[in-house]
Amino acid sequence: MNTAMLLEHITQGDVLRQRRAIAKAITLLESTRADHRAQGDELLTALLPHTGRALRLGISGVPGVGKSTFIESLGVFLIEKGHRVAVLAVDPSSSVSGGSILGDKTRMERLAGLSDAYIRPSPSGGTLGGVAEKTREAMLVCEAAGYDVVLIETVGVGQSETAVSGMTDMFVLLQLPNAGDDLQAIKKGVMELADLVVINKADIDPHAATRARVQIQTALRLLGLQGNPQRMTYVAEGAGGAASTLARWQPRVMQLSGLQGQGLDAFWQAVTEFQATQTTNGALTERRQQQALAWMWERIDAGLKAAFRAHAQVRAALPDITQSVTQGHLPPSTAARRLLALTAEGQA
Ligand code: GDP
Repeated sequence: MNTAMLLEHITQGDVLRQRRAIAKAITLLESTRADHRAQGDELLTALLPHTGRALRLGISGVPGVGKSTFIESLGVFLIEKGHRVAVLAVDPSSSVSGGSILGDKTRMERLAGLSDAYIRPSPSGGTLGGVAEKTREAMLVCEAAGYDVVLIETVGVGQSETAVSGMTDMFVLLQLPNAGDDLQAIKKGVMELADLVVINKADIDPHAATRARVQIQTALRLLGLQGNPQRMTYVAEGAGGAASTLARWQPRVMQLSGLQGQGLDAFWQAVTEFQATQTTNGALTERRQQQALAWMWERIDAGLKAAFRAHAQVRAALPDITQSVTQGHLPPSTAARRLLALTAEGQA
């Protein structure tokens, strides 16, 4: 299928044709073949004017916290309200384990059966940067197809939370109602990313959930995340002086039960308020602009590194130089400068 036809099926097709076109487009974008990449770039550029209208929500939490249960309940709830929901995932470990469990349809059967839901597991792209890039692109395809809520699931593996927070409008952290669990997130620096912290499984022990909520609220205050102007630095320039007088979003903590679907109304209310606040004060536009530029630079870094490693003189010199570094004969920084000089000479 050529680009024009793919574009037409994605943006205007009936549900079945659209689904097939979305799957084809994503497969094309995930391909490493150069001709596919060129066609993928052409398609993305053509899709771009149709993107950007969805709410992009990142959802993270340790395995077992209830992400898939929550996403399924939320997805069904939103579709009943008239939304179309896409679920994507970022799991860099999927290439190691041989398959992604995130965004797996068998974990969300009820949602997967609805025609207004689209579920795609994590690409197995190797590096986090590669996986994140493919997921971002899949998100754009889904947006062009009219999915107005995109949920991006990730698990606390390495830097994947940072990557997902860097491609979404709002980052939600799911927590268990256990004391100590919040400390983990604080230690890993994940709490700082959260616009909303959700204590899940509140049905099991509502008192424990309330205790956890209060604890995390206190922790956020101690971390200075509530009412911290630093958090919103991305508002400042783009929105001009007016930004300082406009309301800023303060991270919230709430409790719910994904399994029983309790608290979804309040959750969606908070998301809607977040969206309204961030739209009014300009933070949403600013965040997306910064994300687009960061994405560009991240890909430039990755591309330069790949080109560097493929450079003939670098490849020839690398074994000796690595050996010298590991044996302590050559300082790593000197080694790096020598290797970099090889590509500079090559270009001159
Ligand atoms: P994930 O690994 O984060 O995706 O977690 P799952 O959604 O697979 O949930 C892990 C387990 O917790 C499953 O047995 C769920 O049924 C259970 N679970 C998830 N959410 C809730 C909840 O709100 N309340 C209770 N009681 N159990 C839940």
